[in-house]
Amino acid sequence: MARRILIIGAGVTGLFTAKQLLEKGFSDILVVDKNYPGSGGSFRCATGIRASFTSREHVKIMLRAIELWPKVSAELGIKYSRDGYLWLLTRESDVEYFSEVVKFQNSLGVPTRVLTPEEAGALVPGLNVSLVKAAVYDPLAGKASCFDSVVNTLRHLLSRGVRVEWGVEARRIRRSGSGFAVETSRGELEAEIVLVAAGWGSRRLLETIGVELPIRNLPKHALVTEAFKPVFKPLVIDWATSSYIVQLFNGNFYIGADIPEEYDVKPAHKLEFLRKAAGVWTRLLPWLGEVNVLRYWTGYYDMTPDHHPVLGPVEGFEGLYVAAGFSGHGFMMAPAVAEALAEYISGGKPGLPEFERLRPERFARGELIKEIAVFG
Ligand SMILES: Cc1cc2nc3c(=O)[nH]c(=O)nc-3n(C[C@H](O)[C@H](O)[C@H](O)COP(=O)(O)OP(=O)(O)OC[C@H]3O[C@@H](n4cnc5c(N)ncnc54)[C@H](O)[C@@H]3O)c2cc1C
Repeated sequence: MARRILIIGAGVTGLFTAKQLLEKGFSDILVVDKNYPGSGGSFRCATGIRASFTSREHVKIMLRAIELWPKVSAELGIKYSRDGYLWLLTRESDVEYFSEVVKFQNSLGVPTRVLTPEEAGALVPGLNVSLVKAAVYDPLAGKASCFDSVVNTLRHLLSRGVRVEWGVEARRIRRSGSGFAVETSRGELEAEIVLVAAGWGSRRLLETIGVELPIRNLPKHALVTEAFKPVFKPLVIDWATSSYIVQLFNGNFYIGADIPEEYDVKPAHKLEFLRKAAGVWTRLLPWLGEVNVLRYWTGYYDMTPDHHPVLGPVEGFEGLYVAAGFSGHGFMMAPAVAEALAEYISGGKPGLPEFERLRPERFARGELIKEIAVFG
């Protein structure tokens, strides 16, 4: 198909969508990024993939993504494994609450189950089980390399004639002829179809054409330790402290932990994060005290009021699409999101009706998505 497509943002969302569009027969595709591919959330993320959510929309979309991850990872050589997620519950009050969450997830086909502290300890050697009241295990969850996901997709696209240019900042979008003109730091680009997949940059960009999106940035913190022999497989979350740890494919432990933060401020390194991350995880995994921290970085979650992405055609602007506001879950969703966007862009509708609930106009209409609990 000869229609010119411009994708703004070369994170997993933009790159996976470009691949899907190639498969649909589109050939004139340009992807631009103001920094470099992966430089937004995509290279900073914990790489976790799960369908154990608390809204029907997230569960259904993630079940589809989990169907697609093995296919896309085999095709592109992305390291991917289904090693599970484990929620540690250290307060009695959380055990009852999570048993309701598990019932909801099971009713939609997500096989989460409650484990005893000893069963959790068998999955995570060296876990201080005396602190754990119970745990919830999701065997369908897993992880994938975010580096392979970006770099291998980029190579795939470049070898098939997709143009990917970095150091190109999109600054303004306006209508032009039968499509759009996008003013960039390297001159104006014309396209019939524009997909804004610019993470935290999407809000400002859409404002230039008069579209308001309630996306706010929330700073997040993560560290990575030196590599260690394989110790445990699941991504482990300590629910009470809102922190998590995962051993990455090359042996490094990746730790994230929430600390109090303001929306829409530039993220800054804080000792408070290192204290919390080290404190929580050396209490639960005392042997971790022997492992050195290598690096600490910050990033953003692009948050929406209902913690679900803004995805699909922009009402009133034929040919303009958006995929942003992933609220901390955009990596795991990318294969399903790319599939849905390619359906929209080629004139159809996504196979999963749940995608239709994520359209940008839901905010103006007050049709926010409901979760049975605010979770993860
Ligand atoms: C610490 C941390 C941990 C996370 N853990 C997970 C996890 O375990 N699982 C999960 O699914 N998700 C996780 N996430 C979230 C995940 O990283 C993001 O949701 C995902 O990467 C979004 O991908 P994207 O392609 O939509 O956006 P991004 O990767 O942010 O890409 C957007 C791109 O757009 C570019 N851009 C912005 N503005 C412009 C402009 N004006 N012009 C041109 N280019 C522009 C940026 O440079 C960027 O490269 C985590 C995020 C963080 C910060």
